[in-house]
Amino acid sequence: MSKRRIFFGVLAVLAVVGALGVWASSRLYVVPIIMYHQVYDVGHRRLDTVSLRLFEWQMAYIKKNRFHVLPLKKLVQIIKEGKPLPRKSVVITFDDGYENNYWNAFPILRKYQFPATIFMVSDFIDVPGYLTREQLREMAAQGIDIASHTRTHAYLPSVSAEIASEQIRKSKERLEQELGIKVSHFSYPSGGFNEKIKFLVQEAGYESACTTNRGYDRFMHDPYELKRIRLSDADNRMDYLWMKLSGFYNLFRQARSPD
Ligand SMILES: [Zn+2]
Repeated sequence: MSKRRIFFGVLAVLAVVGALGVWASSRLYVVPIIMYHQVYDVGHRRLDTVSLRLFEWQMAYIKKNRFHVLPLKKLVQIIKEGKPLPRKSVVITFDDGYENNYWNAFPILRKYQFPATIFMVSDFIDVPGYLTREQLREMAAQGIDIASHTRTHAYLPSVSAEIASEQIRKSKERLEQELGIKVSHFSYPSGGFNEKIKFLVQEAGYESACTTNRGYDRFMHDPYELKRIRLSDADNRMDYLWMKLSGFYNLFRQARSPD
């Protein structure tokens, strides 16, 4: 075989391998949705908390590395239209509606102009330690999307369909009435869901639902089981953040049963 033929042969193989790599990475990539709960400045450390100092550092990392911080609704729209997921993007969410989201997270989000979604438990509005109606209204007016996390934080797979439906509908109604906004997104308490619950969420008029690391849809095909990635005090190193925000993190963690 001539040198020329060997050269073109190798070139062809490299082209095929390269094209396969690009194709595979486009199929495997998902936009990471970060999940926070509490952002505390003093006191306790728990699994679901991040310190204010570390939260600030994580947001600065996102800014410095020029991630596109997408509103959740934008990501949901892209998924529903079947368009390719935008690279180097991230979505920021908070569950439960702790008051420290207002005092600690909100000023930093505003500083960087990052959109975010807070999944509020509607019966916790104005309860000590949780967000007040006024705080929710103020944040909603400044680019924070207020969404639903049920009425009382019920673990939905354990309750009857009637109660689940009431939890899903009534929380949306109250948030919409009290805040004068449209509530379009939902997150399952403790990430627990099943096919019936997904249907109830859809039927109630929500456009999407987030879980935690549960379910088997690793690649964001279903807008009613969007997997999220927890960031906490343990994520205090650049390489951890890089891995969790890479868009390929779901490939390396075990899928957990939805309920
Ligand atoms: Zn929760």
